[in-house]
Amino acid sequence: MRRISSHLLSTPHGLEAGKVVTLSGDGMVVDVSEPPHLDREAGVEFFPGVLVPGFFNAHCHLELSYLHGAIAPGGGFAAFARGMRSERRRRIGLTQNEYADFWDAKMWTEGVSAVADICNGDSTFGLKTRSRIKYRNFCELFGLQADPAHAVALRDKAVGMGLEAGVTPHSTYSLNRDAFSASARLSVPDYPLSVHFLESEEEIDLFRRRGPLWDWYTEQGLVPDFLDYGSAAERLVAQVPPEIPVMLVHNCCVTQRDIDIVMEHFTAPVTWVLCPGSNRYISGLKPPVGLLRRNGLRIAVGTDSLASNTTLSMVDAMRLLGDVPLAELLGWGAADIIAPGHTPGLVLLTGADLRTLTLTEAAKAQRII
Ligand SMILES: [Zn+2]
Repeated sequence: MRRISSHLLSTPHGLEAGKVVTLSGDGMVVDVSEPPHLDREAGVEFFPGVLVPGFFNAHCHLELSYLHGAIAPGGGFAAFARGMRSERRRRIGLTQNEYADFWDAKMWTEGVSAVADICNGDSTFGLKTRSRIKYRNFCELFGLQADPAHAVALRDKAVGMGLEAGVTPHSTYSLNRDAFSASARLSVPDYPLSVHFLESEEEIDLFRRRGPLWDWYTEQGLVPDFLDYGSAAERLVAQVPPEIPVMLVHNCCVTQRDIDIVMEHFTAPVTWVLCPGSNRYISGLKPPVGLLRRNGLRIAVGTDSLASNTTLSMVDAMRLLGDVPLAELLGWGAADIIAPGHTPGLVLLTGADLRTLTLTEAAKAQRII
């Protein structure tokens, strides 16, 4: 048993002072108590800062860690997509696994307990069988010529290695009708689709047959067959049945109308995943945090890959989401709750201003358990 306290403890009731959390040897929370004289309690370890549950990185591509710094920031979305295409070819197979190993370990020490990870290949499967992080793998259909059989084979390989895995469509702008429908058909109960969604203005323009994405497809002689849906949101609800849970990733350009279309359709949970570090890197856009909060939507936080971010730090990602009450923000980033019967991990957040309850530039997280 360990008894641990801190300035503030993140619990389902908010950020609470004067609490002691008691954990069993395997990290399960046995008790959360408030002793009347904390300073006189024997055997309590005190950590200065805020104790939070392990984080859930709701969007990552661990296999792309080797592209750290490969694509210059600030070039906009279409330039990023072109850069990815050439860099992926050029660097493939170099020290991909060593990069992924390093960043997996770093995420763990920085408090990440679970990751929703996009996979286009199997290069990370081996490390995931050994990692202490729990990975949910999303084997992706990608590109206008995507073959669902490739994603299915990848998923089956992951499952065969004892990993959690499902098939997912990359986005509403990069897959033709049949491939997108196939990914929904191939989903299994309770396993969401993770869809890149309205990351950039280019996606909106594509449905109007103009802009850099449209030009890019046209240059390659590719013809998208889904533009008659009219918009990303209308396409999503036309092609994904309401009972399939979805994680919509990025959302920088969503409008109230998009939200209404999506939320009127789905009966299964919709999670709006924000990756502000990646948006800053690629386009300088900011996700519409206020709009999503006003709609009472379920929000989660991700880092995206190191091809479009400088770190996989969840604290860096949360800090970029701006003026959100800290307890709420920490809730978006949490993988579990600190409550009896749960095994949430325990992470020390330092560098939070405890008066204003904001994350300062110095804020960082370090795993305790
Ligand atoms: Zn992504």
